[in-house]
Amino acid sequence: MKINLKLALIILELTLIPFFMMEFIAYSNSRSQLDSQIIGKLEAIASIQKSRLEEVLQSNLSDLDILTHDPDLIQGTANYSTGPSALNQGFLQDILNKEKTSISSIREISIAGVNGKIIASTSKNSVGVDISGFTYFQTGEIKNQASDFSKDHNGLVSLTISGPIISGGKVVGVLLVNTTGSDVGAVVSSYDGLGSTGETLLVTKNKNGDTVFLTPIRFDPNAALNRIISKDKTTIPSTHASNGEEINMLNATDYSGIPVIAVTKYIPDANWGIVAKISQSEAYSPIKSMADLLAFMGIASGIIIILISASVARSFTDPIQELTAFADRVGQGDLSQRVTIKTRDEFGILGRVFNQTVAKLQESYRELEAKVAERTEALSKNVRDLEEEKRASLNILEDLDLEKTKYEALIESIGDGVIATDNEAKIIFINSSAKKMLGVGLETVGGSLNDALLIVDKNGEPIPLESRPFNIAITTKKSFSTSVESDYYYVSKEGKKFPVALVASPIVSNNRLIGVIDIFRDISHEKEVDRMKTEFVSLASHQLRTPLTAIKWGLEILVNESENLTPRQKTYLNDIDSSNERMIDLVNSLLNISRIESGRIMINPVPTNIVKLANDVIGKLKMEIAKKGITLVLNIADNIPEINLDYNLIFNVYQNLISNAVSYSPSGSKVVFSIEVKDGEILSSVKDSGIGIPEDEKKHIFEKFYRASNAKQVRPDGSGLGLYIVKSIVESSGGKMWFESVADQGTTFFFTLPLSGMKPKEGQVTIS
Ligand code: ADP
Repeated sequence: MKINLKLALIILELTLIPFFMMEFIAYSNSRSQLDSQIIGKLEAIASIQKSRLEEVLQSNLSDLDILTHDPDLIQGTANYSTGPSALNQGFLQDILNKEKTSISSIREISIAGVNGKIIASTSKNSVGVDISGFTYFQTGEIKNQASDFSKDHNGLVSLTISGPIISGGKVVGVLLVNTTGSDVGAVVSSYDGLGSTGETLLVTKNKNGDTVFLTPIRFDPNAALNRIISKDKTTIPSTHASNGEEINMLNATDYSGIPVIAVTKYIPDANWGIVAKISQSEAYSPIKSMADLLAFMGIASGIIIILISASVARSFTDPIQELTAFADRVGQGDLSQRVTIKTRDEFGILGRVFNQTVAKLQESYRELEAKVAERTEALSKNVRDLEEEKRASLNILEDLDLEKTKYEALIESIGDGVIATDNEAKIIFINSSAKKMLGVGLETVGGSLNDALLIVDKNGEPIPLESRPFNIAITTKKSFSTSVESDYYYVSKEGKKFPVALVASPIVSNNRLIGVIDIFRDISHEKEVDRMKTEFVSLASHQLRTPLTAIKWGLEILVNESENLTPRQKTYLNDIDSSNERMIDLVNSLLNISRIESGRIMINPVPTNIVKLANDVIGKLKMEIAKKGITLVLNIADNIPEINLDYNLIFNVYQNLISNAVSYSPSGSKVVFSIEVKDGEILSSVKDSGIGIPEDEKKHIFEKFYRASNAKQVRPDGSGLGLYIVKSIVESSGGKMWFESVADQGTTFFFTLPLSGMKPKEGQVTIS
C-alpha cells in the first residue's frame, strides 16, 4: 500500500470513527429518549383508559345495584316466583321500561326467574327465553357482575350486567341489564395521542385460553368477538394483556404483523386486558429525520474529511515520494538528478543533504570511473598478453603433443625393452619389445613390477628384491646399469631365462623421485660371443704358454752361454728375454681372466697370517721397488687376526696393487702400504704419490684392457688386465674394492676382506 494511501487511511480512521461514534451516540440517546417518551405516553393512555373503563364498569354496577334493590321490583319478582301472573308480569315490565329510558346505552333490561326463563323484559321477544345456559345468568345468581362482551340471547354483541334479586334473603330472580357497551366502546375508541396508527384494544381470554377482542377496533369495526389470537402468539401484546400482565413492549408485533410499541394493562374485575399501541414507524418518525440528517452529515463530512486527509497526506507523502524516487534513481546509478523540495521543514533539510551527498558521490564516482578505466585498460592489456601467451602455450603444447606422440612411437618401436614404473614400482608403461621379451601383455600396466618380473642370477637363484636394479635406482635415486659381464637374467612368463644388460634410471622431477625407467636388452648373443671369446682366449693363452716357456728356457740357456756373444748380441738377447717375459705375463693374465670368467677358479681358503703374506709380496717385489728407488712404508696394525684366505689369490691382489703404485710413481717417491681392522673387516690400502687417474677416466678403471691415457704415456707396455682380475678376486671373496685419486697427485686403492674369511669354492684351476 502506498504511503499516501496509508496516511490518508490513518487520518480517516482518526477523524471518521469518532465522528461516526458521536453520531451513533447522539442517535442512540435520542432514540432511547424517544422510547421512554413513547412508552410514557402509551402508559399514560393505557392507565387513563383503564381507570375510565373501571369507572364505566363501576357506574354500570352501581346502576344495577340500584335496580336490584328497587323494592317494587323485588316484590314483583318474589310474587311472580311464587305465583306467576300476567298482572305481575306487566307490573315488572313497567318497572323495567321505566328504568330503560333512564339509561341510554341500555338495550334491554330483563328479569329471569330462578329457573333461567325470562319472565319480564323491555323487549317482548325475550320473555320466555331460557338463559340458564349463559354465563351472565349463572354469575348473576351470585353477585353483581359485568359479564364479558358476548352475543346475548338475541344474538347481539352486548355487555350484560347481571345481579341477584333477593327477597327475604332468598334469590328470587336475576336482573339482567343488557347494554350495547357503547360507553365502554367510547372509551376504547378514543385514540387521542395515538397518532394515525395507534389504537387501544380491549381483550379477554376465552375458554380455550385464546385472546378475544371485545370491542371494534380502529382498523377493523367487526373485530369485537370475531378477532381471536391464538394463545401461543406471545410477541403480540394482546396475548400478554389477556394474560393479566401489565408490561411495556418496545419491540412487539401487533395482530396484523406490524412492528409496534405497546403498553398493556389489566382490569381484574372484568378479566379485561387493555393494549395501547402505536406502530414503530410512526413512533420513530420524529427521529427518522434526525437519522437521515445524521446520515447526510456523515456522508458529507466523510467526503470532506477524505478530501482533507488526502490533501494532508499528499503534503507529507509528496516529499517522501520525491525522496524515494530520488533514492531509487540514485540506487540505479543516476547521479545527475537533484531533489527539488524547497520547503523549510525537515523534508527540505533532507532534500538538501541528499543533494550534497549525491554531488559528492557523483564526484567520487567520476574519479572511480577514471581509475576503473585505467585499470581496465591495464587488465585488457594483461588479458591480451595472456591470450598471446596462451596461444603460444597452446602451440607449445601442440608441439609437445606431437613430440610426445613421436617419442611414444619411438620408444614403442625401439628394439630394447622399456619399462617405466612409478616410485612404488608400479608399472606405468611397457613397450612392445619388453612385452614380447617377457611374454606379457598390457595387463601388467598398473601392477607391481616385482610381481610381473622374475630376475635371477646365472645359477637361476632369484635376486633379492633390494638388489634388483629397479629397487636400487629407487633407493639410491641413481642410475644403475649392468653390462655383458654382469649376471642378471630375466625370466619370461613362459619360463624362458635370458641374460640382460640394463639401465635402470630414476625419473626425478623437482627433486622428487616420480618413477624409474628400465631399458634392457637380451644379451644372450653377446654372452655367447663372450663365452666363445673367453674360451678362445683360454685356449690361445694355454697354447701360447708352452712355446713361450720353451722360448724362455732357450733364452736362459743362451744367456748362460753368452760369453761367445758380442755385447750387441747380448743386448738383443736381453731384449728378447724381457719381451718374452711380458708375453708370458700377458698370456698368464689372459689365462687368469678366462679362468675367472668361466668360473673355473677354485677358492681354497686356509688360516693365513696376512702380515706374513704382505711381507712375502714385498719380498717378491723388492728388486722392482729398489730399482725405482721407491720408499715403501709399511703401516700394518698389530691386531690383524689370522683369517681363512686363499693365499695365492690374495697374494696376486697385493702384488698387483703394489706393483701398479711403483710403476705409476716417480722414482724416489713414497708408497704407503696399510692393513688395519675396521668396521668388522680387514681394510687394506696402497697409497702412492704418482700420476693419479684423470677424473673423466675413473669410471673405466676396473674395465678389462682399460688403461688411462696418462698411464699409457708413462708405461706403454701395460695390459689393463690387472685391476680387473684384482676386483674379481676381492668381490668373489666377499669384499669390496674402490679407489681415491687426484691426477698428478697420487692414488690410493682400498679393498676389504670379511673377518670371517673367504668362502671355499670348487674349481679346476687357480690363477698363475
Ligand atoms: P696395467 O697396469 O697393466 O695398465 P692394470 O689393470 O693394473 O693394468 O691397471 C689399469 C690402469 O689403471 C692402468 O693402466 C692405469 O691407467 C691405472 N692405474 C692402476 N694403478 C694405478 C696407480 N697406482 N696410479 C695411477 N694409475 C693407475
